[in-house]
Amino acid sequence: MPLAPRPTDIAAATAILREGGDPRETYCRAAVRLLRADSATLWEIDADELVLTASNLAAPSIARRRLTIGPGSAAGRAAADGRRFFAADAPNDPDADQEIVSRLGLRSILAEPIRTGDRATGALAVGWRTPVEDFDPVTSGFLSLMAVQASMSIERADLAARLERLALTDVLTGLPNRRGLGLDLDRELARAARLGSPLAYAMLDLDHFKEYNDAHGHAEGDRLLRHATRAWRSLIRTQDTLARWGGEEFALLLPDCGGDQTIAMEIVERVRAATPYGQTASVGLAIWNGSETAAQLTERADHALYAAKQTGRDQTLAA
Ligand code: GH3
Ligand code: MG
Ligand code: MG
Repeated sequence: MPLAPRPTDIAAATAILREGGDPRETYCRAAVRLLRADSATLWEIDADELVLTASNLAAPSIARRRLTIGPGSAAGRAAADGRRFFAADAPNDPDADQEIVSRLGLRSILAEPIRTGDRATGALAVGWRTPVEDFDPVTSGFLSLMAVQASMSIERADLAARLERLALTDVLTGLPNRRGLGLDLDRELARAARLGSPLAYAMLDLDHFKEYNDAHGHAEGDRLLRHATRAWRSLIRTQDTLARWGGEEFALLLPDCGGDQTIAMEIVERVRAATPYGQTASVGLAIWNGSETAAQLTERADHALYAAKQTGRDQTLAA
């Protein structure tokens, strides 16, 4: 039967949209409420296919599905055509993805495109387990408006996330910059305090880098910085942080690397040994004492680094 207009559905969907939060998830929940549907899944373009980026389902069984942009799925059609696609009889519609239809037990599907500017960037697929024949113009119009608003909110959220990433990243090396390191350090200190787990912090500084620049030029110096960070990073775990403190100075944050400094020292020595182009580096290492602040921990590592420089370079000294 056609979906009849119900002011309460529009009011409820509007209230969900006003809540804010993650715009993708909000859009899914609002669409389900507006259309009295059973499922809403958001599909977005990723490397020439559509991937699931949000849904109203707790653990969607279709999470890993990738859809072709084009015929073969409702979302694929909507994203390719840039307009709404509706399959009243989804189990018998060649343009409905039958794996999704049967997994979610759907009888009807609607897909509404989302866009950036004029370009469709994906589609929201809404599904019903009881058949729906058609929509009244009010519901249909509100759905269109909601899709426009969702598209803009998603674009804005992605832009904000991109800007935040940029603000926390060093341009030359792609590593977290000092600001990014600060966030990681605060998080890891809180975690170490909560779990009583060890945390090692090291300051690493290339030796005689000024001479290297003077001898080979600034561009070669940049190349050394990039290659060195790539080599160092390949030796640490994903939960470790390597950040650019500034210039030719870097910070290493090693959570859970043993209670005493022996293991941290081993890791740092391995990292230091990977410095390319026959260059060397000096390191100051500090194990968090369980109570000091981020600034105090940093200062201790910095003192140890200073001592390493003063007593011959090409070595690690612990604070
Ligand atoms: P030390 O062994 O005492 O650390 O000596 P150093 O020469 O490495 O240290 P110093 O602080 O005297 O010089 C650091 C040099 O790093 C000077 C600066 O021009 C250079 N530098 C800083 N940032 C960059 C960069 O992004 N690219 C390049 N190529 N050089 C940089
Ligand atoms: Mg140096
Ligand atoms: Mg320096």
